[in-house]
Amino acid sequence: MAGKVYLIGAGPGDAGLLTCKGREVLSRAEVVVYDALVGAEILAMVPREAERIDAGKRAGNHRLHQWEINQLLLDKALEGKMVVRLKGGDPFLFGRGGEELELLAQHGVPYEIVPGVTSAIAVPAYAGIPVTHRDCCSSVHIITGHRRDGKAGHLPYRALAETGGTLVFLMGVKALPEICAGLLEAGMDPGTPAAIVEKGTTAEQRTMTATLAELPETAEREKAGAPAVIVVGGVCALQPEFFWRERLPLFGCRLVVTRPRERQGVLSGRLRTLGAEVMEIPAIRTVPVEPNETLDRAMDGLASYTWLVFTSPGAVGQFFDRLRNRKRDIRALKNCRLAAIGSGTAAAIEQRGLFADLVPEVYDAAHLGEALAAQLRPGDRVLLPRAREGDPVLPELLRQVEGAEITEIPLYDTIYESSGIIDLAAEFVAHPRTMAVFTSASTVRGFLAAGGPENITALCIGPQTAAQAKAAGMTVHVAREATLDALIELAEQIHEGAKQP
Ligand code: SAH
Repeated sequence: MAGKVYLIGAGPGDAGLLTCKGREVLSRAEVVVYDALVGAEILAMVPREAERIDAGKRAGNHRLHQWEINQLLLDKALEGKMVVRLKGGDPFLFGRGGEELELLAQHGVPYEIVPGVTSAIAVPAYAGIPVTHRDCCSSVHIITGHRRDGKAGHLPYRALAETGGTLVFLMGVKALPEICAGLLEAGMDPGTPAAIVEKGTTAEQRTMTATLAELPETAEREKAGAPAVIVVGGVCALQPEFFWRERLPLFGCRLVVTRPRERQGVLSGRLRTLGAEVMEIPAIRTVPVEPNETLDRAMDGLASYTWLVFTSPGAVGQFFDRLRNRKRDIRALKNCRLAAIGSGTAAAIEQRGLFADLVPEVYDAAHLGEALAAQLRPGDRVLLPRAREGDPVLPELLRQVEGAEITEIPLYDTIYESSGIIDLAAEFVAHPRTMAVFTSASTVRGFLAAGGPENITALCIGPQTAAQAKAAGMTVHVAREATLDALIELAEQIHEGAKQP
């Protein structure tokens, strides 16, 4: 049976501009065929198991011919696959979406279109330019500056000039001098406000404004490059008043966040809210140790333990899930006091309806070990369910307490993840200001294992993570305490510092 092809518009770059439907469909894809213009933030969302094909159509440097893409979509669908064709902006606006459907339609292969946020409107918006405003225009026109034969010439300049509407040119950077000359010759006022917005909605967004007559010179001086949207019309005069994105504290900041997928959301969301471009590239994944007789035995005898110690939110989740799966509720812990390594772990415990009795002042294994050892009495029995290869410092410190019994239980293994569609090394070369965010030493190791480069700037949650990053040769900054708040604060500080000349 034939599969199905979804033609999805990925929007202009910012991952938040991928539609909810687009995201949902993408998460189910078995094959993803994507274009050069799809942003890295969105490519990072492609399911790791999916087959990924780069159709990389850059002007003049075609990797796959259009007919090859059409055939590819057909072949994959006929194999019964759920195929996503991911395109920049909206698939039907200068996106050849129509051409890609023809062959599918001929073969009766089912397909759906998921429209996208087009760069023609969103990119000016991110620069503070509303494409219409009642004070200056009553229409907006979207024009390609690139013709099939590669020349811009012969656009209906007179007709365009006469509309009095906002003119938005896509694929127009190369032909910019020609376009501006054409409009001026057709009688358009040389003083008409105009703008070029380069790499709109990404961390590298740049807005250049000038009059129509001066725009080519400005573009050349500023070395404006593709992809860029060119806007001509009175609305461009509103840009200095309405520009908003450049004002966000983390605007221009590009980050790779490496924590495990299930823990990504909060951190990335907050960084994005502050204006950062965030690529979620989990470097590690945890898998429960299975079967786990030691754990099951401990769970059956929970009443005999006096302390239960957690060193990560992930361990809390896995422990309580297992408890529930064994049909035991949290009353089984009534003799246990609870210790958490830091505020994130304590919060995870709270989510299970319990409060931590002990959280060290400094959130690391050594401080936890010291604080807990100070409270242990002979006869205390401590349960320490955690990663199989946890830091030995904690049990060592606890075992120094005479008469206390420490039971370490391997709860999960940490597995390194691939970087999926993203070539990490190439990513840092193409965007040298990209920084990596690490929330554990294992994320640093996983990042390197996935091909992540060493000569980068690392934002680290704590000293152990920092030590690992430093050992790899990274330029390291450490949060003032091991919390997400402090890590975000650190990103703001470093970003602010990097902006100074
Ligand atoms: N279907 C796409 C347009 C494809 S044509 C859409 O709806 O947006 C490719 C052109 O889109 C580029 O040459 C450029 O003019 C524009 N474009 C796409 N993404 C852009 C971005 N992030 N910033 C500026 N221009 C962009």
